[in-house]
Amino acid sequence: MSPAAPAVRGWTRGASFQEMWRDLTPLGRHPGSGGYRRYAWTAADADCRAWFADQARARGLSCETDRNGNQWAWLGEPADADPAPSGGPGTGGASGSPGAGSGAVVTGSHLDSVPDGGAFDGPLGVVSAFAALDELLARGARPSRPLAVANFADEEGARFGLACAGSRLTTGRLTPEAARALRDAGGTTLATAMERAGHDPDGLGPDPGRLARIGAFVELHVEQGRTLARTGDPLGVASAIWPHGRWRFDFHGEANHAGTTLLTDRHDPMLTYAHTVLAAREEAHRAGALATFGKTAVEPNGVNAIASLVRGWLDSRAADERTLDALVTAVERAAAAHGERDGVTVRVTRESYTPVVEFEHALRDRIAGLLGGARLLPTGAGHDAGILSAAVPSAMLFVRNPTGVSHSPAETAAEDDCLAGVTALADVLEGLACP
Ligand SMILES: [Zn+2]
Repeated sequence: MSPAAPAVRGWTRGASFQEMWRDLTPLGRHPGSGGYRRYAWTAADADCRAWFADQARARGLSCETDRNGNQWAWLGEPADADPAPSGGPGTGGASGSPGAGSGAVVTGSHLDSVPDGGAFDGPLGVVSAFAALDELLARGARPSRPLAVANFADEEGARFGLACAGSRLTTGRLTPEAARALRDAGGTTLATAMERAGHDPDGLGPDPGRLARIGAFVELHVEQGRTLARTGDPLGVASAIWPHGRWRFDFHGEANHAGTTLLTDRHDPMLTYAHTVLAAREEAHRAGALATFGKTAVEPNGVNAIASLVRGWLDSRAADERTLDALVTAVERAAAAHGERDGVTVRVTRESYTPVVEFEHALRDRIAGLLGGARLLPTGAGHDAGILSAAVPSAMLFVRNPTGVSHSPAETAAEDDCLAGVTALADVLEGLACP
């Protein structure tokens, strides 16, 4: 099969990237904070989706939104074609030859953001995907496999609390029933939010036929750390994603008057919470891992009232699952011990857990080789590529982040590094799809 490769007239390196970046940058940016608030199934999300569809249309790609709200822009194969005869659901990950076979080569990322997120986390991968396709075709390459650019729905989970909802639904890691029942802070369910945005929530569910048509997925992403800045490499290839999870700690105490209750008479859950935060930091330091309490809810949340309930969410990540489990157990023990001293009851609920993801070595090494032996590095952040890797050979490219800052308006990458990423992605697409 030989997809039509439309000529990219007047292409110059960087121009398509810069033009897309300029058009996408204002969408969903909060004028006050300068950060992005592109939450799933909101007006800002709709703007980003319309931008994606426009980019597909401008290139003559066929654009579709799948049953789970992920967007796909296809070159070379109708999106609803029959599954490739060689592939069944989930067989991709087990195939011996990386990027071999007849499956499509897909690249992309996500366009949604965390609250007041940066411009690069997600969008860099989508913009680079379109730009790499432009560069590939401008080289005169003739892909022998279908190519697609993807925009995965609700990767950050900022609104409904569950990261990578779009790819989790597609791979069956999230059931449609559980997804539809997710609620945002205002009590709106995901089903209602989708419906209001014009997407039918009844269609949610696993999509094995689609996964079977994909031979390889490559996600380019801004690095969320300073490894590349330290090593002096503009680009790197992901080796693994650390196992990570979220735990909710509920500290139940006794509400009382801040002005009349003696210190010795208090059951103050804020105190226990504070000790728990310190313990998490200490245990993480000892384990060479990460532990963060970044979100808190307090009842009754009055300035002159001892709290009755403090809720803190622990995000923890480590290089392996044993270290992660031991770390969280140690934090739970510390919370319980301090709770006993303070007369506060502690309950811990695990809200999510993602095991370690080792990217397929053959594909990873082939990509590193195509890029002249790019550096391999692990990451502590979850990504759609990590979810998809259970069903499809997947890989990630990282672009150097000079400050390491991410999930913040200060997140950045140098334009030269971004363009190096586009060229690298074009090299990868050429190596995998244009033998
Ligand atoms: Zn991301």
